[in-house]
Amino acid sequence: MNNTTCPYCGVGCGVTAQVQDQAIIAVSGDSDHPANRGRLCVKGSALHETTGTHDRLLQPRVDGVETGWEQALDSAAERLANIIEQHGPRSVAMYLSGQLLTEDYYVANKLMKGFIGSSQVDTNSRLCMSSTVAGYKRAFGGDLMPCSYDDIDHAELMVLVGSNAAWNHPILFQRMTAAKKANPSLRVVVIDPRRTATSELADLHLSLKPGSDAVIFNAILVELERRGQIDRDYVEQHTEGLDAALAAAQRSVPDLATAAQMTDIPQADLETLVDWFCNTEKTLTFFSQGINQSSSGTDKVNSIINCHLATARIGKPGMGPFSLTGQPNAMGGREVGGLANQLAAHMDFSSAENIDRVQRFWQAPNMATTEGLKAVELFSAIERGEIKAVWIMATNPVVSLPRASQVRAALEKCELVIVSECMAKTDTLELADIALPATTWAEKDGTVTNSDRRISRQRGLIPAPGAAKNDWWIICEVAKRLGFAESFTYTGPAAIFREHAALSGFENNGRRGFDISGLTEIGDHEYDALKPIQWPVNATAPLGTARLFTDGQFFTPSGKARLLPVEPSLPQQQPDKSYPLVVNTGRIRDQWHTMTRTGRAARLLQHRAEPFIELHPKDALRFDIADGDIAVLENALGRYVARAQLSEAQRPGELFIPMHWNAQFTSAAISGDLIDAVVDPISGQPESKQGIASISAL
Ligand code: SF4
Repeated sequence: MNNTTCPYCGVGCGVTAQVQDQAIIAVSGDSDHPANRGRLCVKGSALHETTGTHDRLLQPRVDGVETGWEQALDSAAERLANIIEQHGPRSVAMYLSGQLLTEDYYVANKLMKGFIGSSQVDTNSRLCMSSTVAGYKRAFGGDLMPCSYDDIDHAELMVLVGSNAAWNHPILFQRMTAAKKANPSLRVVVIDPRRTATSELADLHLSLKPGSDAVIFNAILVELERRGQIDRDYVEQHTEGLDAALAAAQRSVPDLATAAQMTDIPQADLETLVDWFCNTEKTLTFFSQGINQSSSGTDKVNSIINCHLATARIGKPGMGPFSLTGQPNAMGGREVGGLANQLAAHMDFSSAENIDRVQRFWQAPNMATTEGLKAVELFSAIERGEIKAVWIMATNPVVSLPRASQVRAALEKCELVIVSECMAKTDTLELADIALPATTWAEKDGTVTNSDRRISRQRGLIPAPGAAKNDWWIICEVAKRLGFAESFTYTGPAAIFREHAALSGFENNGRRGFDISGLTEIGDHEYDALKPIQWPVNATAPLGTARLFTDGQFFTPSGKARLLPVEPSLPQQQPDKSYPLVVNTGRIRDQWHTMTRTGRAARLLQHRAEPFIELHPKDALRFDIADGDIAVLENALGRYVARAQLSEAQRPGELFIPMHWNAQFTSAAISGDLIDAVVDPISGQPESKQGIASISAL
């Protein structure tokens, strides 16, 4: 079977690969996969151009010297054991990735939290979706995305906030476009400071002051109440907290005139949005990194959910708050507990009962009992010398984290840096004491979970190059050398998946929303042939579940959903005399993350061949910059040098820079060098969307 899943964005498209002479020579969209129905975007359709042995890490290295696996694994285990013995389990950490498969994630999390006894396990999903996780947990009692892609075909109003889906979730955006074409009464609203490719579909584009999103949703809540549009029966029976949420909304945004002033949006446009929202039952609200990457991201998520709960627009076709996941397996990582504040299978450290349950299931000898440090704090602890060893897998934090140069400095000081990586050269790999060659897309087997809770198989279609090994195997081999062979001997990823499924159902009894116990008995052959399926998958729903909360039951102690009081706040980094411009960061259409893979495909560099700074012509005039000039952005943290590109799609006073370029291409344009390590206090997600800078011509 040559069907697999695209490894880039959270849409999770099915891919059919053509294999010849042990190489992938072409790819096409899998017409049977419900996420994409045969389509692929530019990135997906270039997947075969990013495979091959060129530029791959092919052999383990210890202290810069190539070795065999035995020596590399022995060395990793011995050094980790020494550090644990000297400094305790919390002195070692893992930093994982939404690029890993669920099975890799599962054994990594199990090793750290159950056997080494350290919860210092975080992931680059912290940079992507952790505010959504926190918002869902507060509102629903679990990290539970309620909707399904099929809801797009039923909606009458789609609001996209903080999302440039046309570039970042292209196949889903094509589905939105098709839905609008099929149903001309379907309205689309885009809320984004920039005019983007997504806003071309919009009936209404609200170019808001960056970060003021919660003002808009508080204003909607206030107007829903004023116009008598709150569903009092639903609220009474299935929710709690409306009065406090409403009071906070009324206090912060008493009327639309205030909202207009706080958001910089013309009042008439806000009135149009409010009219449409109040009068359209089938409303979907999509949100992505513009909401999440914020110092108040969790509150923003809850301000959106509040409006859906107040109108009972959840758990039914065509409606609900819909988070667009950034990475292919951000959700799978969350399912196994890959965040430092999670334990496993959607259980966290908040109850002794959870800890005891997971300990008994794993038969774990050294159970972690408290949360670990979240990504930004974790790298700060490395810099302070409190964490002595870190194992980084499938991610490039030296480029992607805020205060990127400080992350580099932290890793330079760290006693032991292990990096599992598929590419021969990345900014992070350069700092590795032990480099472990890992397999990548089309070479490894496992599962991923996309934005609508759909578990799909990624399949190994071609042999691993050189000595590269699967991540789950590497982790298990180190675990065995640490003395845990009995609990880390698996016949393959199917066996790991069965254990993960069993844990999801272990003493669940309907208490946790994540439940795939219906897949516990899956045989190796069935696992190999597994068709995409949306969780929960259990005795009640053996064929999966399209929508959550259809019965109005939630996973809070009371069984009711919670509306949360939200006091809107702006990004912490605000322009001043020295740094008068707002810097907005984001993705571009044809690149993925830090370009270690997509940067290999010449075709994908045609769209944008080099980093750039997009600015409004008024700012160009003000700072004496011409279109095409090489310009320098500077602030107290660092600088970013790239070509200026004038665009009226920007709001004056605000710039856009892509987040992709790494030092392998140019060390002058790393967006993380300009972004401060400011985080949301609840989720720990960095405010990567907004920095400040001055600009000048080079
Ligand atoms: Fe891959 Fe996302 Fe494009 Fe689909 S939309 S092909 S998952 S990058």
